[in-house]
Amino acid sequence: MRPVKTAAILVTLILCASEIAFGIDLLTRELEIRIGKQAAIEVEQEYGGVIAGGAYVERLQHIGSKIAAVCPRKDVSYTFKVLNNEKLVNAISLPGGPVYVTKRLMDLCPTDDELAYVVGHEVAHIAMKHARKQISERLALGLVGSIFMPESDIVRVGVAVALTLHERGYSRSHEREADKYGVLYMMQAGYNPIGALKVLSMFLKMEGSKDGAFIRLLRTHPHPKERLKHVRAVISQHGSKYGFNLQAIEEQLKKEQQ
Ligand SMILES: [Zn+2]
Repeated sequence: MRPVKTAAILVTLILCASEIAFGIDLLTRELEIRIGKQAAIEVEQEYGGVIAGGAYVERLQHIGSKIAAVCPRKDVSYTFKVLNNEKLVNAISLPGGPVYVTKRLMDLCPTDDELAYVVGHEVAHIAMKHARKQISERLALGLVGSIFMPESDIVRVGVAVALTLHERGYSRSHEREADKYGVLYMMQAGYNPIGALKVLSMFLKMEGSKDGAFIRLLRTHPHPKERLKHVRAVISQHGSKYGFNLQAIEEQLKKEQQ
């Protein structure tokens, strides 16, 4: 190969690498959706399958559709399924649209405001492309290889990353972002953010308990105390736009707890 040509290729590669460093997206929407669908098969199996229909499914889908309607990311369709698991407390989102809540977590969210917070948080992970960004980063590590990688290999890498995120959790900043936008979506959809404070207070109570049902959820998210503080700040800053007031909510909470 002539030196000029080699140099040109090198420069191109360096430019590509620097663009990736500034957050270029190496994944297409189609591949993101394929990865989510493939990972969904494994998640459904792990939790004992999904519930086919009935009150649980209708409740989750009703809330899910209201949250999806206000969510600004519209290039994917969000699906909401109930994992038929009465032991584990968890909610899961996968790249490209799938959202799951376990039956047990739904039972622990008696009001729709509470469930709307759980759903809002998961929808925000998808809308903010958190898994997609992680998969892109992984592909960028093997930059030269990934340019020539067949799609099936990209899907395989993507599924592995998505399942690792489910096992180990997103970064702290992605979790904060999911809490912020999750609460904004729920308020915009007309749900009272008192639900967020109730769910996080429940997690706080379970923190340090020996209940194995909460282990994964608590391990993969920031401490509930920190999340409560952050969510309170979001309500205080943005609540009035949607007709909610943090002080009034806190007073209502106190009354209900008496
Ligand atoms: Zn999360």
